[in-house]
Amino acid sequence: MAIGASIEGVNSVIRPVICIDATHLKARTIGVLLVAVCKDRNEMIYPLAFGFANSECTESWTWFLKKLQEFDRVMSELKETYCKVYDELLAVGVKKFSRLHSPRKRYFSMTTNIAELMNSCLLAVQKLPITAMAEFIRDLLQRWFYNSWINAREMSTYLTTFADEHIKDRTETAYRCEIHPIHFNTFKVDDKWKETTVDLEERSCSCRQWDLYELPYSHAMAVARFKGVSINALAFDLYTIGFLKHAYEMGVNPVPDPEFWDIPDAIRNRIVLPWKKKILPGRPKKLRIPSAGEKRKLQSCSK
Ligand SMILES: [Zn+2]
Repeated sequence: MAIGASIEGVNSVIRPVICIDATHLKARTIGVLLVAVCKDRNEMIYPLAFGFANSECTESWTWFLKKLQEFDRVMSELKETYCKVYDELLAVGVKKFSRLHSPRKRYFSMTTNIAELMNSCLLAVQKLPITAMAEFIRDLLQRWFYNSWINAREMSTYLTTFADEHIKDRTETAYRCEIHPIHFNTFKVDDKWKETTVDLEERSCSCRQWDLYELPYSHAMAVARFKGVSINALAFDLYTIGFLKHAYEMGVNPVPDPEFWDIPDAIRNRIVLPWKKKILPGRPKKLRIPSAGEKRKLQSCSK
């Protein structure tokens, strides 16, 4: 289940690094809820897709991940709907905004913690039937998108609050840098600890911070000041308020009454039988499934 507003946002303005996680359901149907989330350019969680599966197994994850691998198809739809945005994205270069097509890692460190946070928002409804849970998720996303859109609208800065604070935090260090021009757009920068080379045209610094995170760090900021260029202009466009607003622009609509549903015959005639569940020995799991390599804290009582 992916809300249209999420699909729209993730392919135009959201950082396309997706975190996935699973959590056990406790309703009679049991099974797991698979969650995919990413982050917006204000470092906030952006819900992307949800999947209900019988169990957390290779087959379930393969099905879920295949559903997520629709990048090219959605991009072609985006082209039809938002030609201007599509052209702008292509002008930037697909390697610059798609991790899928990127030859290198370019984003802030990210674990599956944000997917776990999403799961924790759904703890209270894990005992509900799947349809009720799906409606709860839709309702949650409706409020989530509205509040995020209002939040983006109220930002008065050129860049998102996160990007703006990132730049402010590095202003003092930038003042300490010494600049030695090499060519028109290339500069040697000495920050008293190390020397790096900044290329304004390539939007690159040899320390790789600017390249990886798409926001200027102290070296590039020092060069911008030296050249009289706006520091905000060194951040990638996706960090601007305009793009953040676009991420939440399409609201999440309520589901209309069933009598108004337009159900294709192929779906209407499909017979879905209940899942033949296997009752495994032992108590049903109540805790979240730990991520690969994650160690759970053992709690012990002292006498
Ligand atoms: Zn640098």
